[in-house]
Amino acid sequence: MKFWGVRGSIPAPGSSTRRYGGNTPCVEVRCGGQMLIFDLGSGVRALGQAYPAPLKAHIFLSHYHYDHLQGMPFFTPMFVPLNEFAIYGPTRTGKTVQEIISGQMQQPYFPVTAEMVFRAKVEYRPFGEGMEERIGEARVTAVELNHPGGNLGYRVDYRGHSVVYATDIEHGSDVDARLAAFARETDLLIYDAMYTEDEYRGRVGPPKTGWGHSTWQASIQAADRAQAKTLVLFHHEPTRDDAGMEKMLREVKRHRPEAVAARELQVLNVV
Ligand SMILES: [Zn+2]
Ligand SMILES: [Zn+2]
Repeated sequence: MKFWGVRGSIPAPGSSTRRYGGNTPCVEVRCGGQMLIFDLGSGVRALGQAYPAPLKAHIFLSHYHYDHLQGMPFFTPMFVPLNEFAIYGPTRTGKTVQEIISGQMQQPYFPVTAEMVFRAKVEYRPFGEGMEERIGEARVTAVELNHPGGNLGYRVDYRGHSVVYATDIEHGSDVDARLAAFARETDLLIYDAMYTEDEYRGRVGPPKTGWGHSTWQASIQAADRAQAKTLVLFHHEPTRDDAGMEKMLREVKRHRPEAVAARELQVLNVV
C-alpha cells in the first residue's frame, strides 16, 4: 500500500506540512499484479506521473466530496489510449458514478469535459454495500459509513490478509459497531482521525459535530473494537502542521504503540 494523499478536506501544501504531506486522499493498494486505487484526491496527480502506460487499475471512490475527486481531471493516464480503468462508486442523489464524474468536468467548473479529453478505456461500475468485486485473487467489499451524503468504506482481502479504508466517518452512531464487524481483525485499519476531542467538541474553535469526521480518540476505539492489527491515522486536518501531527501520534501511541499516521509517499507492506 502506498499513500499518495493523506490530507482531509483541502490540499495543505507548504513548509509546515512537508513531512506528512498536503495532498488530499489517494491510496494505492497492490495485490500481486493488480493495482487498486482508493479515491482520486489531489494525490493521484503524482501517482499518474509515476506510472507510464500501459497502466491498468481498478479505482474505488468512497464518495464525491471535492477532496476525494479533485485529482481526477489531472490524472494524466486518463488521457492515454493504452490505459484501462474500471471506476467503481456509489450512486448518489439519483446519479451514477459515471454521471457524477461527467458532471464535475463541465462548464463553468472546468474547461473541458471527460468525454472530450479522456482517451483511456474506462468502464464505470456502480458499487455499494453488500456488493463484492473479485480482482484477480483480491476481494473488495464495502460498508456505508456515517458521513453527510453517504460514504463507502472499503475492505480488500487478499491471500489471508486485509486492509480497510474507512475515511470520512463520524463516530458515535450505530455505524461504529457495523464498521467493527466489517473491519474485524484487519491488518491495517485506515481511519479518519481528523480532530482532537477538544476540536470536535468546540472547546477549540467551533464545534465540529455533524461535519462527518472523527477524532484520534475515536480512532483508537474503532481499532480496538475491530481488533485491527495496525491503526493508520488518515484524513489529517489541513491546519495541523507536522509538529501537531507528531504530538497527536505520540498520544495515540500511548494506547496503540503500533499506530501509524499516514504520510505522503509512505509504503506499508502487509505480509
Ligand atoms: Zn474528505
Ligand atoms: Zn467527505
